[in-house]
Amino acid sequence: MDNYKMLINGNYVDSFSKETIFSVNPGTKKSVATVPRGVKEDINAAVQAARTAFETSGWREIPPADRSRLLYKISSLILENKEELVRLETSDTGKPLTQAQGDVDVAARYFEYYAGVADKILGETVPIRNDILNYTVREPLGVTGHIVPWNYPLQMTARSLSASLAAGNTAVIKPAEDTPLSALKLAELCEQSGIPKGVVNVVTGYGNEAGSSLAGHSDVNHITFTGSVVTGTAVMQLAATNITPVTLELGGKSPNIVFADANLEDAAQWVVRSITQNAGQTCSAGSRLIVEESIQDQFLEILKQKMERLTIGSENADIGPIISEKQLERIEYYMEIANEENANMLCGGKRYLNNNGFFFEPTIINNLPKESRLFYEEIFGPVLVVLPFKTSSEALSIANGTEYGLVTGIWTSDINKAHWLASRVNSGQVFINNYGAAGGVEMTFGGYKKSGFGREKGLEALKYYTQVKNVALKFTID
Ligand code: NAD
Repeated sequence: MDNYKMLINGNYVDSFSKETIFSVNPGTKKSVATVPRGVKEDINAAVQAARTAFETSGWREIPPADRSRLLYKISSLILENKEELVRLETSDTGKPLTQAQGDVDVAARYFEYYAGVADKILGETVPIRNDILNYTVREPLGVTGHIVPWNYPLQMTARSLSASLAAGNTAVIKPAEDTPLSALKLAELCEQSGIPKGVVNVVTGYGNEAGSSLAGHSDVNHITFTGSVVTGTAVMQLAATNITPVTLELGGKSPNIVFADANLEDAAQWVVRSITQNAGQTCSAGSRLIVEESIQDQFLEILKQKMERLTIGSENADIGPIISEKQLERIEYYMEIANEENANMLCGGKRYLNNNGFFFEPTIINNLPKESRLFYEEIFGPVLVVLPFKTSSEALSIANGTEYGLVTGIWTSDINKAHWLASRVNSGQVFINNYGAAGGVEMTFGGYKKSGFGREKGLEALKYYTQVKNVALKFTID
């Protein structure tokens, strides 16, 4: 078992607490590593290092084209170290190899994408008067804090870190306590790329210790958080004490709306994939199926067959483990509710017991009562609930009927219906006859309603890692 240290100001250090946390592979229940149990003093040291790096390391003044080259270098280093990153990610999360490989590729792509824009962060000139040149510049914020979840540890760290660095900020990362290893490796690669010491720092530890200290730190200029609504609310409250802006990405209850005129084979393939990818532990999981009543039975039969063909396990399986016993129990709790409500489990509905880890069978549930909590709450497992509809208006009203609004999938061959729905659903992303558009580092991503606010990915994310300064220059000509 490896014993890791945190990276603060370019040094590998233990925590002030002198304690460690075990990282457990949920596919085997075996401890794979220890990391320091970072506490407030460690966060203070990391923020101080990031602040000093921002003010004095030259990072802020570096020509944007050079910053861009450093980000390209990080992207290349991620790919050169793919094997090790995959090993760390699979041992921390238990996820199948192909999924971890995909995550590493996406992480590299984030750095590549933002490398390409680091020298294109533009201001504007604003016409005012002939003797005044008025212009805006987009400046970095300073120190950004990144509180990362456990479902896509490397991808999520790369997502916000790459955009933040492209804009010229320095960073403190707090990975999830269940999955800290790939963030540590990524920080090491950032160091190797040649960025100044202290630009990227990682403090491992629990959310209510290291996480809350980072969220409430008075010298942090922005917090990016991905996770639950409850924790997001706590993070926002802590940040509010210092008027620190936050980007919150808080999950969803995203629907796939399937009309009778859709290509049902295509739709079924993506409905299954969108709820089973990463064992359903995906913020944008397609966890509600809103299906036209006339094809409900036929469509559910196709889904059931596809679900039952999926293999469960680690390494080469289709569906990997649930992250922890706690999360598995949470899914089981929702199954108890469904059983008490006399719902119909078309498949799954229970733990998968054929191996040692925390696995759950892919599940389809229909005939739930309208008020069932399973329609409204994020379960975060491979559990699909079914809601039939008769008219487009009814489909829209069901789709918009939760507190979330992250992603919507629409499946129909009628472009008018598709566009009508796309323009009315309360959701940050809409996919028509596809779901996810192959990952989409370039596509703006973020929530309506309680799915959060602020935007990540694409050019839009840069707005959240910069602040705009207006300069008015008065001049005279003799
Ligand atoms: P969480 O939201 O509590 O944890 C996410 C991150 O926040 C972790 O790094 C954690 O250490 C940190 N954190 C926890 N408490 C904190 C605090 N008080 N201050 C600052 N940081 C804190 O998520 P969880 O408890 O691990 O999972 C619970 C539920 O959250 C899941 O069942 C799922 O519904 C949801 N979730 C959503 C996503 C997503 O991508 N939207 C990711 C993970 C979890």
